[in-house]
Amino acid sequence: MTNTAPVAKNDDIDVVFEDLTHDGAGVAKVNGYPIFVPNTLPGEKAKIRVVKANKGYGFGRLIELYEASEHRVEVPVEENYKYGGCQLQHISYAGQLEFKENQVKQVMKRIGKLEDATIHPIIGMDNPLNYRNKAQVPVGKKGGNLIAGFYKPRTHEIVDTNESIVQDPAVNEAIKVVKEICSELGIDPYNEIHHRGVLRHIMARYAKSTGELMIVLITRSTSLLHKNKIVEEILKRLPNVKSIVHNINNQKTNVIMGEKTKVLWGNEVIYDYIGDVKFAISAVSFYQVNPDQTKVLYDKALEYAALTGEETVIDAYCGIGTISLFLAQKAKSVLGVEMIPQAIEDARRNAELNEVENVKFSIGEAETFIPLWYEQGNSADVIVVDPPRKGCDEALLKTIIEMAPKKMVYISCNPATLARDLRILEDGGYKTEELQPVDMFPMTTHVEVVAKLTLKK
Ligand code: SAH
Repeated sequence: MTNTAPVAKNDDIDVVFEDLTHDGAGVAKVNGYPIFVPNTLPGEKAKIRVVKANKGYGFGRLIELYEASEHRVEVPVEENYKYGGCQLQHISYAGQLEFKENQVKQVMKRIGKLEDATIHPIIGMDNPLNYRNKAQVPVGKKGGNLIAGFYKPRTHEIVDTNESIVQDPAVNEAIKVVKEICSELGIDPYNEIHHRGVLRHIMARYAKSTGELMIVLITRSTSLLHKNKIVEEILKRLPNVKSIVHNINNQKTNVIMGEKTKVLWGNEVIYDYIGDVKFAISAVSFYQVNPDQTKVLYDKALEYAALTGEETVIDAYCGIGTISLFLAQKAKSVLGVEMIPQAIEDARRNAELNEVENVKFSIGEAETFIPLWYEQGNSADVIVVDPPRKGCDEALLKTIIEMAPKKMVYISCNPATLARDLRILEDGGYKTEELQPVDMFPMTTHVEVVAKLTLKK
C-alpha cells in the first residue's frame, strides 16, 4: 500500500488545532491531512509527535503546548483523563457544554438533514463532578497483588485506581473497600488470557435518595471462596450496604454480567426515588447513572409527551419502567416493552410499589413485539422510545410510521443514530419539532437528547 500521508510515524511537528472530533480529540491539519490528538483543543498551538500515519488521516500525541485555549483547565486526576473515559476533563465545563451542543447541531444537519427543528441550549449540571451512582471495575493481578480500576484505552491492561472524579464518593469508597477486602482474603483475580481465576469485576450501585448501596461480585467460577467472610467484612466496613449479590459469568466475553445471580446477603434490590416515584433496582437491570439529570430528562420527556389523561402510550426500551411510571401518572394507559426479563420483573414490582395500575409490561424485543402487537389490532396515541446507542431497529420505525401515533418522544444517548432515525421518521410523515440536549455525562463525550415529534397532517 502506498502511503500518501505528508507525515510519518515519530515525526515531531508544530501544528494549530482547528476542531474537535466527536470523541473529544483535537484535529490539526497538515496540507489538508487531518491528525487527531487527544488532550488538545481548537485554537491551541503545540508540538506533537505522530504516532500513526494512515493514508487519509493520522494520530498524534501532545509533546509541548505552546499556546493554550481559554477553555483549557488543569486536569485534576491524570488517570481519569487518560483511562477513565473522561475525555473532556481538560475542557472547562462551559466549553464542554458548547462542544456537546455543537455536536448535536452538526449531526442533526449533516445526518438528519433537519433544517428547521429547534435545538434548545443544552441543560448542564451545577456541579459536574461525582454524579455517577454506579461503577463496575475489572479485577486483575499485578506483582502478585489484586488490582482493580480502569482499562488503558484499546488494551486490556488494568490500571489500579481508587477514585474517579465522576463517581459519587460513596461509589468510590465502596469499590475501594471491597477491593481491599478481597485482596486481604486472597481472592484469586480473574485472568482473561487463560480464562482462569475467580473475581472478574466488582460493581457498586448507590441509590442517592435513600443512601442504599448494592455490591455485586462477578466471578468466573460458581464457587467463591470465603463468601461469608467477605459478606461479614463488607457489612462491617460499609454500613449502608443493603444488598450483596454474586453474579456468575463463566463465558469468555467482554460482557460484564453473566446469567446466574445469587443473593449473598440482604435484599435482591436496592430502592431509589426519582422525583416521588420509588424504584426497586436489581443487579442486572439498567438504571440511569446520573440521578440528578435523570429527573431533568424524564421531566422533559413528559413535557414533550404533553399527555391529557386520554392517551394510550407505548414506552419502548422501558428498562425497569422508570419512564413508564412517570408517563402513567398522566396517561390513560401505558405499555412498557423491554427485552431483559429481570428488568420487566423489576418494572412490575415498581408499578406495584407505587400503586400504579394503568401500566402493563411485556418482555420482548421492541422491533419484534411492537409490530406483532400492532398486527393484532392494537394501537397507541403516543410512543416513547429510549433505545441503546445503536438506535431503533428499522422494523420498529416502520411499524411506528404505519401505526402513526400523533406524538412521539425519542430519548437518545447517541446523536448520530438519533439523527439517522429522525430522518426516517420525517420521511415517514413526522416532523421533529424540538430537541433538548441534556448533559447526563459531564467530563465524557457522551450527550443525551430528547426529541419531540408530531405527525404531519
Ligand atoms: N428507559 C429506561 C431504559 C433505557 S436503556 C430508563 O430510562 O431507565 C435501554 C433499555 O433497552 C435497556 O434496558 C435494554 O435492556 C433495553 N433494550 C435493548 N435493546 C432492546 C430491544 N431490541 N428491545 C427491547 N429492549 C431493548
